[in-house]
Amino acid sequence: MLTNAPKGTKDIMPDQSYRWHYVEKKWAEICSRYGYKEIRTPVFEHTELINRGVGDTTDIVQKEMYTFNDHGGRSLTLKPEGTSPAVRAFVEHKVYADVQPTKIYYVTPCFRYEKPQSGRLREFHQFGIEVFGTPNMLADADVIALGHDFLTEMGITDVTLEINSVGCPTCRAKYRKALQDFLRPHYDELCDTCKSRFDRNPMRILDCKSPEDQAIVKDAPLMVDYLCDDCRSAFEELQENLKALDIDFVINPKIVRGLDYYTKTAFEFVSNSIGAQGTVCGGGRYDNLCQEVGGPPIPGVGFGLGIERLLMLMDANGFGIPKPEPVEVFIVTMGDSARKEGLSILHQLHQAGVSAQMDSLARNVKGQFKYAARLGARYTVVIGDDEIARGTVQLKNMDAHEQKEIALADIVSELSK
Ligand code: ATP
Ligand code: MG
Repeated sequence: MLTNAPKGTKDIMPDQSYRWHYVEKKWAEICSRYGYKEIRTPVFEHTELINRGVGDTTDIVQKEMYTFNDHGGRSLTLKPEGTSPAVRAFVEHKVYADVQPTKIYYVTPCFRYEKPQSGRLREFHQFGIEVFGTPNMLADADVIALGHDFLTEMGITDVTLEINSVGCPTCRAKYRKALQDFLRPHYDELCDTCKSRFDRNPMRILDCKSPEDQAIVKDAPLMVDYLCDDCRSAFEELQENLKALDIDFVINPKIVRGLDYYTKTAFEFVSNSIGAQGTVCGGGRYDNLCQEVGGPPIPGVGFGLGIERLLMLMDANGFGIPKPEPVEVFIVTMGDSARKEGLSILHQLHQAGVSAQMDSLARNVKGQFKYAARLGARYTVVIGDDEIARGTVQLKNMDAHEQKEIALADIVSELSK
């Protein structure tokens, strides 16, 4: 127990963290290229924000939240997603009063009490972007294009972009009724989760993963057939924009997304190569969210992209993330005075920006060389009594098996070249 991480969490160990650094760096690069700036919001928020933002009827709010009272009696919740905190910050800091649109990106842990399995954790991590302040479908296309280009740059070729429109509150109300009318005769055959969704969130039944429920909804009415004029023309415009961008997509009228706040555009990037949890990126438009959490009526659009699933997909696509550079210099010493000299050189090398290491386990010379090889050191600096007497060190190129004697005073400048 004490030495096991909590269920559904994962350590990112030193032999894996370079993979995270790589994708995080590429993520920051592409976001800044597209004009997005980073936002960092707290790990926990007022529970009320998440209830209102994500939606009382969603699976997340109903059963997946990590909610607790702090010592001051406030109800707080570990954030299950990045959008409502970003909207909260946008409102709190009155960013809407600046020139719009506002384009932000984030990297965040998310917490959901779900059943852990491949690609599904209780603490997971997301990259995300949001564009606030424009209702124009150009923004939706821009958001999707960034997701598409990022996945492409990460070597992922086997994802499909699926798009849908989930309408607006007006047309969705009519659709919701039609869907419930269709499902009512099948109510008893639905899985328990979907029974509970019937009243609170019937659209969610459409993307239930159970094969029995999928068979039931096969011929269910579709939102796209119920769109109002405004939502329909927006959906057509989005498709035209994607064509202009030369980004392939398919319409999947069953995409509903797990969060209540979506309006109009909903989309997912889906892969078949990482098992059942194949959605690596999901997002859409949320024109009512800002107002829902107490801000002005400002539209928004964005997505969240699961980092764990991204890394799984990169593996599945054979993308080789470059390994970190091994240590540049290893200092091998013989005897006490050599060790002190070595320590001083080590420090000077670090200050000069050279990656360097030295033994700290009192290994003998053979052991030090073995350890240097294990670290993949490109150079060793060898200091013994003879060298100290002559005021020199031996510099050995480990790949070329060459060795030369260098004045002690010159070694740091020689190696920092
Ligand atoms: P799913 O269909 O897998 O339940 P979702 O619709 O709940 O996903 P979003 O809330 O849109 O997902 O989150 C965006 C992305 O975050 C997902 O596409 C996925 O890559 C990742 N994600 C969501 N939940 C988890 C989880 N429990 N563990 C790992 N990654 C997750
Ligand atoms: Mg989910």
